[in-house]
Amino acid sequence: MSITDLTSRAEAQVAERKEINERLQKLQEEVSDFCYQCAKCTSGCEAHKLLELEPHKIVALLKRGLIDEMINSDMIWTCMSCFKCKERCPQKVAPVNILFTLKNLAVASGKQVPGDFTAMLQSAMGIGLIQDIQTVPTRAGETKTREQAGLPPCSKPKDPAKFQQTIMTVAMEKV
Ligand code: SF4
Ligand code: SF4
Repeated sequence: MSITDLTSRAEAQVAERKEINERLQKLQEEVSDFCYQCAKCTSGCEAHKLLELEPHKIVALLKRGLIDEMINSDMIWTCMSCFKCKERCPQKVAPVNILFTLKNLAVASGKQVPGDFTAMLQSAMGIGLIQDIQTVPTRAGETKTREQAGLPPCSKPKDPAKFQQTIMTVAMEKV
């Protein structure tokens, strides 16, 4: 079902909208009221080209207070966190951070997290990276390591237990 069908008769969730905008202000982002729906964010969104995600609609839905509809939609999980929408916005609104906030709220309310996110989280907690360092294929059909490809070394946490503790502390502060 599309999100527009879900929202057709919904009531505005005023308290939740206020809470999300306050979280954005803590991140020093402009609140959704500043959005004038130019859709410049969506025109550059990489996920929009593949899936249903349209960042300008996310901001519009937040302005209308339709929070549950977004939290219950798969749409919030298709963002690739490239931050292009934030970079492109002439009003300094950051749809990407609205999406992070919605994802945090979805997790806090016990919603099912897509499997890929769980795998990335487990990897990040285990080795400090969302996936382990890999070799890359070249156009010539060779396989190269980061060093062979001329990339700088990629470090991992020296003390995984301390790293995990730090991540948990930061995560609890942000929820
Ligand atoms: S680019 Fe900014 S102002 Fe334009 S629709 Fe997106 S969030 Fe709103
Ligand atoms: S951060 Fe997410 S919503 Fe923003 S442009 Fe990138 S993929 Fe699209």
